[in-house]
Amino acid sequence: MKNIAILGSTGSIGKSTLDVISKFPDKFKVIGLAAGRNSSLLAEQISLFNPEIVAVSDEGACKALKSSLAGRKTPEILCGTQGICSVAEMPGADVVISAIVGAAGLLPTIAAIRAGKVVGLANKETLVMAGDIALAETKRHGATLLPVDSEHSAIFQCMQGHERDPVRKIILTASGGPFAGKTIGELENASPRDALKHPNWNMGQKITIDSATLMNKGLEVIEAHHLFGLPPGKIDVLVHPQSIIHSLVEFIDGSCIAQLSTPDMKGPIALALSYPERLGNVMEPLAWEKLAGLTFGKPDNKTFPCLSFAYSAIRAGGTLPAVLNASNEIAVKAFLDGIIGFNRIPAIIKKVMDSHKLHPADTIEAILEADRQAREETKRVIASGV
Ligand code: MG
Repeated sequence: MKNIAILGSTGSIGKSTLDVISKFPDKFKVIGLAAGRNSSLLAEQISLFNPEIVAVSDEGACKALKSSLAGRKTPEILCGTQGICSVAEMPGADVVISAIVGAAGLLPTIAAIRAGKVVGLANKETLVMAGDIALAETKRHGATLLPVDSEHSAIFQCMQGHERDPVRKIILTASGGPFAGKTIGELENASPRDALKHPNWNMGQKITIDSATLMNKGLEVIEAHHLFGLPPGKIDVLVHPQSIIHSLVEFIDGSCIAQLSTPDMKGPIALALSYPERLGNVMEPLAWEKLAGLTFGKPDNKTFPCLSFAYSAIRAGGTLPAVLNASNEIAVKAFLDGIIGFNRIPAIIKKVMDSHKLHPADTIEAILEADRQAREETKRVIASGV
């Protein structure tokens, strides 16, 4: 029996994690849950899974949860980021699933790493913002990072039994999102509703917009760079609209190993929970005879420049990846709120990145300061209408 703590339990990955766990009650026990503000869903999850500790980052939602559970002995309820970090560090947790969306996931994930946990990593921002620190701390505290992002889980699976030396490159696949094949002009009036219609994956709002701009793939390139220790020149992106091949490794002899499955996040989640074992019947098997054809193409960097921003950010290093991420979070929110158009997302991010004064990303404090400044600068650029 493995004890599991889930950070971000009310989000898309968190819910799927609980879904997987509920099918294997003899293998997993939920001992900790942490969420942002959805206290009503959290209350449902508490009655279904009976965790020992629950944390809510929003103070108001935390109070609401406390009063709705008044009189109950368990769980212990903690508020704020410190509370979320306490769930991340729970002494009894064997696996911590880190599935908080965005920069808010950084401190709790680092806390889990410093507690020496096996971390199922869905929060890509931890590696985007603080990859060098996260990897060094993982080593120092004997923690283990298991990727939950589908592409990185695919690469991880393809690399089993192989050394890194004979890897020529890794190829991350991208569905291309809902706007694949469109021109800049056609996207001028694209609405949040259009951008949220992802053809293959059912995900949260932020990541679905990132999928439409290709920023999600950019963040994943940075994530892969840290996770697999490869320079940006050895990480390629290939548009594969069917989302059946989740990524590939190409070896020096010209041979490729790919991982395929139906597009279902329960696959990578289950593997992170049970690794090195595999669980039975997690996803629908592929119906090979029904696969009409798998197609591949190069990403359109002109219409979707966010991917190239990510390569620039890795090459510059320091605080620039954190700035890219922070600026993107603010720009995406402004687009979802109807304040800016779709094509302004990359234009705004580029402006903020160009004006950033680079610092070394050698402490979490320096990274959080760059994150804070980039958010302010992005809001200023948005307000200036440029
Ligand atoms: Mg992914």
